[in-house]
Amino acid sequence: MSYVDKIIADIEKKNADQPEFLQAAKEVLESLRVVVDNNSKYEDAALLERLVEPERIVQFRVPWVDDSGKVQVNRGYRVEFNSAIGPYKGGLRFHPSVNLSIIKFLGFEQIFKNSLTGLPIGGGKGGSDFDPKGKSDLEVMRFCQSFMTELYRHIGPDTDVPAGDIGVGGREIGFMFGQYKRIVNAFQGVLTGKGLDWGGSLARTEATGYGLVYMVEEYLKSISDSFEGKTVSVSGSGNVAIFATQKVQQLGGKVVTMTDSNGYIHHAVGIDLDAIKEIKLVQRGRLKDYAAKHTDAVYKEVGDGSVWDIPVDIALPCATQNELDLNNAKTLVANGVKIVGEGANMPTTQDGADYFIENKITFFPGKAANAGGVGTSALEMSQNSERLSWSFEEVDKQLNRIMVNIFHNINDAAKEYGQAGNFVAGANIAGFKKVAQAMLDQGII
Ligand code: NDP
Repeated sequence: MSYVDKIIADIEKKNADQPEFLQAAKEVLESLRVVVDNNSKYEDAALLERLVEPERIVQFRVPWVDDSGKVQVNRGYRVEFNSAIGPYKGGLRFHPSVNLSIIKFLGFEQIFKNSLTGLPIGGGKGGSDFDPKGKSDLEVMRFCQSFMTELYRHIGPDTDVPAGDIGVGGREIGFMFGQYKRIVNAFQGVLTGKGLDWGGSLARTEATGYGLVYMVEEYLKSISDSFEGKTVSVSGSGNVAIFATQKVQQLGGKVVTMTDSNGYIHHAVGIDLDAIKEIKLVQRGRLKDYAAKHTDAVYKEVGDGSVWDIPVDIALPCATQNELDLNNAKTLVANGVKIVGEGANMPTTQDGADYFIENKITFFPGKAANAGGVGTSALEMSQNSERLSWSFEEVDKQLNRIMVNIFHNINDAAKEYGQAGNFVAGANIAGFKKVAQAMLDQGII
């Protein structure tokens, strides 16, 4: 049995109840066969056994009091997966679907993503099954304060620096940062995604969506093409989706779809992004409200077809994991899609991703394509250490540079290992090699 097969059998046995973690880990391990099966130094050092086991998992109780005076209890997590190349770094997700499998899959992906940014950040992820939707600001504040009252002891500016993710935006980061500062009595860059007046970085809000589009743009440039005139479908209508849409529009592409957890809109003349921002960022409303105002847009509830049924040149899934399956992939390919770029983490199922690659669709996995968010978080950490704030243009330029570098690194790695054009393999291999070497250099820890 090969080294990789042994590790896959082992993780399947130990984590049978963690499907998302197994999916993410197996995808990476499959790509690493060409690296580790021919080089015994990895097996001799039990490198993969260590890589798939988090350095630390913290799980805790989060009690809080709702507006009616009733005590509620949620579950909190922080998975500190790998610190070989820097402090743990990765977002916090607040969503009812959160469980240990999801946090472990996200933390595992984060190791390779952070490595690809070229910046000194390790991999981690956390969150809670708390649902901020429908809660008052005061309820969200009480929850965030309780969450941080436990989390604070596990994090620190040189130890672990969380950020936002699904359900955790500027409001939640503010409440958590305030509580951290109150407990430790120090103003430290312990969270990223902070407000601009208290340590945040310009362009962090835009970074993940912009970065995704910068990567696709660099690929298009490499084939003497551009976004000009391309039709694009985007899923989600949160942070990543909104700023991916904005950048596509700035580059001359036309985004025709968006989704939320209730349904999707198809607006053939192009999405009115100001209306989306008003509904989603100001009113915290639903996409249905968009269709009510734009009578030429079509709104469909979940279950009534799929956003991936719409014919487009480029598809950018930016909502959540496993939102694009094999059937969706087949429909997109049949309708002529050329490029798929993942803004979300693992939005494409394994068979869907395989289908794109087999059919020579240019497919950028989330761990490369959405790395601009964490890359810019690392730039926020640098600014906090310097006690300086860089201009929007400076941060945006660095973000662009990070994404262009990642594109070329994963492209080169794929070619070096005989898989030209397979950016999944390229991202996994390039991300792994740096972390693996750091782990080897640091001994058996
Ligand atoms: P937001 O919470 O801002 O937006 C998430 C969007 O996806 C919303 O439109 C939401 O709909 C939809 N969504 C979430 N869960 C589901 C679900 N289970 N089914 C259907 N729709 C769903 O999150 P972000 O935009 O920040 O994150 C989106 C993705 O990008 C995630 O996979 C995240 O891990 C990834 N990512 C985010 C980064 C960042 O910087 N924010 C960095 C790197 C990756 P609704 O409004 O109805 O809930």
